[in-house]
Amino acid sequence: MSKEFNRRDFLKKSTMAGFTGCALLMAARLNPAFASSPFFNNDDVPDPKLLNYCGYKCPDDCEFLKATVNDDVELKKKAYEQWKIKERHGVDFDPEKIFCWGCKTDKPLGVVVKNCTVRKCVIEKGMDSCIECSDLKTCKKDLWERFPKFHEAVIEMQGKYLAAKG
Ligand code: SF4
Ligand code: SF4
Repeated sequence: MSKEFNRRDFLKKSTMAGFTGCALLMAARLNPAFASSPFFNNDDVPDPKLLNYCGYKCPDDCEFLKATVNDDVELKKKAYEQWKIKERHGVDFDPEKIFCWGCKTDKPLGVVVKNCTVRKCVIEKGMDSCIECSDLKTCKKDLWERFPKFHEAVIEMQGKYLAAKG
């Protein structure tokens, strides 16, 4: 496990792991708490409250977010296909139903977020993120099974988090 964890590295690993298509946005412009998050500074300790439940950070330029904010039907259609919403969730395309406001949001939950087993599990455990969970390494949730490299990256992030906690 490397000593240093940084956001750029994490995002690179997430992208390499194919984990570009979860759902969310949490863009700094919509959630100012993120903009001032110490986690945005490389090598700072990850804060579970500022992460999505699985440990992911939605990229600021997420197309699904952009489609949702602008209520852009063409972009929603693109996101619908990219996120494989028909295949994975069995939902037909309807611009009213295809949106995503993020994983931790007061706004209505999009279908991808609503169906996420990791999100449900973290909430049931009363935690803010999987990096707080002692079962992370062995957890078999489908997200980790589908994106093993992302799983590794989150485990690495957990190491940083636990080391800082002491
Ligand atoms: S917890 Fe689930 S819905 Fe939230 S970012 Fe992770 S995969 Fe997406
Ligand atoms: S059991 Fe798995 S999905 Fe649930 S909180 Fe722990 S690591 Fe996350």
